[in-house]
Amino acid sequence: MLNNKVNNVVIVGGGTAGWMTASLLAKTFGSTLNITLIESDDIGIIGVGEATIPPLIHFNDELGIDPAVFIKETKATIKLGIEFQNWGELGESYMHAFGDIGKSFPLCDFSHFWVKAKQANLDFNFWDFSINYQSAKRNAFAPLDKVPALNLPGIAFAFHFDAGLYAKFLRKYSEARNVKRVEGKVVNVNKCATTGAIQNVVLENGEIISGDLFVDCSGIRGLLIEKHLNTGYEDWSHWLPADSAIAVACESVEPLTPYTKSIAHDSGWQWRIPLQHRTGNGMVYSSKYMTDEAAKQTLLDNLDGKPLAEPRVIRFKTGRRLKQWNKNVVSIGLSSGFLEPLESTSIHLIQSSIVRLVKMFPHNGISEHVECEYNRQSKTEFEKIRDFIILHYKLNRRTDSQFWLDCQNMEVPYSLKHKMDVFKESGLVFRESEELFTKIAWQQVFIGQGLIPDDYHRRADQLSNQELKDLLTSVKEVIAKTADKIPNHGDYIQTCLSSLPKH
Ligand code: FAD
Repeated sequence: MLNNKVNNVVIVGGGTAGWMTASLLAKTFGSTLNITLIESDDIGIIGVGEATIPPLIHFNDELGIDPAVFIKETKATIKLGIEFQNWGELGESYMHAFGDIGKSFPLCDFSHFWVKAKQANLDFNFWDFSINYQSAKRNAFAPLDKVPALNLPGIAFAFHFDAGLYAKFLRKYSEARNVKRVEGKVVNVNKCATTGAIQNVVLENGEIISGDLFVDCSGIRGLLIEKHLNTGYEDWSHWLPADSAIAVACESVEPLTPYTKSIAHDSGWQWRIPLQHRTGNGMVYSSKYMTDEAAKQTLLDNLDGKPLAEPRVIRFKTGRRLKQWNKNVVSIGLSSGFLEPLESTSIHLIQSSIVRLVKMFPHNGISEHVECEYNRQSKTEFEKIRDFIILHYKLNRRTDSQFWLDCQNMEVPYSLKHKMDVFKESGLVFRESEELFTKIAWQQVFIGQGLIPDDYHRRADQLSNQELKDLLTSVKEVIAKTADKIPNHGDYIQTCLSSLPKH
């Protein structure tokens, strides 16, 4: 045990990570904890991060936030998946659509039926069977629990939102639950001479703030976890080569598309994220292959509206902190590591770290065993997401630039190679414990980028080719007819906004 009871929590940082942490701790533990959050207006927040994945809905539910209020306050739109353009070969595109694809069969994934159909030269696109994809391409959205007639799972969705507005919203939420906000810059810390644990932080104005547990939400700099505890960082840039981003918002254009776009360019890729009031855009690239100037030009050449500000360069190193929890410091957000924004996983990692901390909260003092278990779970979670993101780079088939050729030829982690080999030989994919992405997510990236299995499960041979064709045709038709009836996404957002009282 490092110290006695944990009554005083100090959060350093007031970006998305800081205020999400403050909100859930305050909601869960109420007056049993004293929570102080320190943020520096001079330093500010990173100010990017607009695309999320479906579990954020559970976080908001846990806080009791009404979805319509959330949509209004954060200028959110709906996200049904991510469309990847030019990631296989130039001109190709596919979607990592959320939710299910097709009809599930006991002990055998739907994808095996699709592979059998492909081998029999039956012409079906894998995404014919995705209600999310079909709705996304029609710019349609409404909550839908089930696809009627076939009783298939309905639409799974997430949000595009303004993370800065979300942090402001959560600040109000937290302050209403007695979180104390202190504005100021942390310039030093005092540590216990025997344990090395942090006892207090010192602000520029001389104020000293003591705590039993510190949550480092200070962003990429990792102020407590790295600068003061020297925890160490595992560098993954040999697998995830991007080290720079250049971001700019532009004016919105119609229609309001309910999906993120990820468009691969010569030496990186560009995001397009539509919000209610603007569209977020950015280039992610490797400075070894592309200059900032070239990245900026590519970005500006590919905007679909007028830029609203000067593009801004951000540097990062992909990887993870060797320990997310070290002594009495837990790092959450960019201070704990960064995997690049390709699959919008950063805010999700914030959420899962907070939930993990809440579940393992060290009320009676910090135990090495609990710290170790927390770190084991975080490491596994980071590594599984890392593999999924590397897959996109590895599976490209582009020959038009050195960047993409080098990505094709790189050695990938054994865990990923194994997953790719198993899928190629058998069409099988397994979701391991603590793994974020579903089997269907993996299948979509494999198939979307051209890794088609050589074999399929023999359960699919229970159907003759004609029976298979009839089955797939009927599922495809039901999904298309259902998607045709779903209202327009922009109208859905307006309906949400007008359902709220005006003041
Ligand atoms: P920050 O926003 O940097 O906040 C750090 C806080 O610490 C600030 O309040 C700052 O004032 C404070 N601070 C720092 N030093 C001190 C000090 N000495 N004293 C007092 N206060 C201090 N995530 C997604 O989920 N989806 C996306 O689409 C996405 N896109 C991204 C694109 C790019 C290019 C990048 C780089 C990241 C992206 N992310 C995305 C990640 C996302 O931006 C972050 O996960 C999120 O913003 C959380 O940041 P943070 O709170 O950890 O850090």
